Amino acid sequence: MKNILNFKKMVVVVFIATIVSGLFFNMRTAYAAEYVLYGKKMTGGIGNYGNNPRYYWMSSYFNTSAKKKPVTDAMYMWNYSNGTGAWTPLMFYNSAQQYGCILDIHKVSGRPGIGAETTWFTWKGQSVVPERNNWDWCKIEVTNLYQAANSTKQKGTMVHEIGHVLGLAHNDTFPNGGTVMRWMYADTMSKGPTLNDFKGINRLYK
Ligand SMILES: [Zn+2]
Repeated sequence: MKNILNFKKMVVVVFIATIVSGLFFNMRTAYAAEYVLYGKKMTGGIGNYGNNPRYYWMSSYFNTSAKKKPVTDAMYMWNYSNGTGAWTPLMFYNSAQQYGCILDIHKVSGRPGIGAETTWFTWKGQSVVPERNNWDWCKIEVTNLYQAANSTKQKGTMVHEIGHVLGLAHNDTFPNGGTVMRWMYADTMSKGPTLNDFKGINRLYK
């Protein structure tokens, strides 16, 4: 009788352990989104492997190389896949004139607690909800908080906002590296777009 009880106990323990590990695994699987997309994307593509490059413009705030560098460095990492081995159609060049650009980058005042914001637009200048409609061009606005940050944080912020421009939504799957699309900036975040981020780009544009 004692042995039978022990056996029963063991069966129960094993059974519970199976359920718990199963749940744990399923939860991990369910949350391990490589990327999260808004659902819509930029019209006209993102550069067609450099055959039809898109252009971005920086406002007069970005009048020194120190101010320009976090932006150009961020775009460089997106263009050349940040050493991840990914191959995407992405190619954005900087232009000195706003006309013809599909990304404008401005500096604004106010908006306490916010480092930068992206807005999506149609050619007619109507703002777009990226879950509902494709967009023709975007605006990134950086704030005083961005201005006060060091260049590493500025670059990380710009990498993140460009992700929004391209169609990536926030992704809090990965606690540290894994994506630059975390909701809150963290020093532990990847310094440049990751393979997961590029997979999201290719899902939209390839
Ligand atoms: Zn964001």
